[in-house]
Amino acid sequence: MTDDTNNVSSTPSGDPWLLTPGPLTTSLSVKQAMLHDYGSRDATFIDLNARILERLVAIVNGAGNYVSVPLQGSGTFVVEAMIGNFVPADGKLLILINGAYGQRIAKICDYYKRDYRVQESAEDVPVDTAQLDATLDANPDIGHVVVVHCETTSGILNPIKEVSEIVARHKRSLLIDSMSAFGALPLDAQEIEFDAVVASSNKCLEGAPGMGFCVARETALEQTEGNSPSLVLDLYDQWRAMQKNRQWRFTPPTHVLLAFDQALTEFEAEDGVAGRGGRYRANCDLLVAGMRAMGFKTLLPDELQAPIIITFHMPTNPEFDFNAFYDGLKDQGYVIYPGKLTVADSFRMGCIGRIDAEQVNGALDAVAQLLTRFGIEQIT
Ligand SMILES: *Cc1c(COP(=O)(O)O)cnc(C)c1O
Repeated sequence: MTDDTNNVSSTPSGDPWLLTPGPLTTSLSVKQAMLHDYGSRDATFIDLNARILERLVAIVNGAGNYVSVPLQGSGTFVVEAMIGNFVPADGKLLILINGAYGQRIAKICDYYKRDYRVQESAEDVPVDTAQLDATLDANPDIGHVVVVHCETTSGILNPIKEVSEIVARHKRSLLIDSMSAFGALPLDAQEIEFDAVVASSNKCLEGAPGMGFCVARETALEQTEGNSPSLVLDLYDQWRAMQKNRQWRFTPPTHVLLAFDQALTEFEAEDGVAGRGGRYRANCDLLVAGMRAMGFKTLLPDELQAPIIITFHMPTNPEFDFNAFYDGLKDQGYVIYPGKLTVADSFRMGCIGRIDAEQVNGALDAVAQLLTRFGIEQIT
């Protein structure tokens, strides 16, 4: 039972492990990097900022053609910034939707009064590339297409390469929300054509939350001057200002940047996307196999599952109470996440952040103990 406190697992700083879509467990060294106060004009800080921006471009293999622009706030701030900057007032955006994050982009367009069209598939179905092709054929007024790389609502991987090929063939501009995939799933600008991708400090790059960034094709970003309906979210202005004096326009989240610099060092030490994605894939495979062995069912077939977050169907056993399950896991040191689906009752377990097989096995043991405590022998 949970009063056996010797069994409780925790991070080196004494917190539960976060098996969630973010914010995530960070390494102790990433947290320790924040134990400094820098002024925004401090030369050390300014160099660190420049170093971060260069490394973000390197992650997409975009040196020479791409630039990165950072922005204060959570991931949604930079998604909104990308839409507001790249889609001009008289433009039209096609939004490929198969989950809540795609829906959110439509909401952003409503706020900004940007014209858009939606192409929607179910949450457990990848975006339809044949339909995309047909829609672009029939609608020459659509200038931009936006897609979510890994739709965190379900954990589904969207066919980003096929989408980019179709969009490029039709000579339209592709925008990508790669918030929950950037750094773990390959996105090589030499192979995948896109004008802008956005992500944040606190997902697969394992930094502290508080900033997002946009990696944009320089020639496309140059054309966005004056588009942004928002001052604070004006990526063009942020970019130009930073080119002039290497500083953020408004108070930078200095501690978040200190942590991010360390997180990127650890990312590179892990062999970048290959190593990070490989660890997450191993976590995902272990978690899925272990949960299936206990009788849980995944929403997605393996070939659609990104190694980021896994959606499990909610058991229908009357003895299974999700709140007791959640609290019981938390008591053992593992935080999971409720489902966000409209298609099925579900819960989610993330496999990203500073966790590996030890934490996944620990979480699986905790799940098994809870099933025993609930008196569940067979999950239905
Ligand atoms: C996390 C996430 C976001 C941004 O969410 P915030 O809560 O604003 O950080 C956007 N898109 C996707 C796909 C995400 O996973």
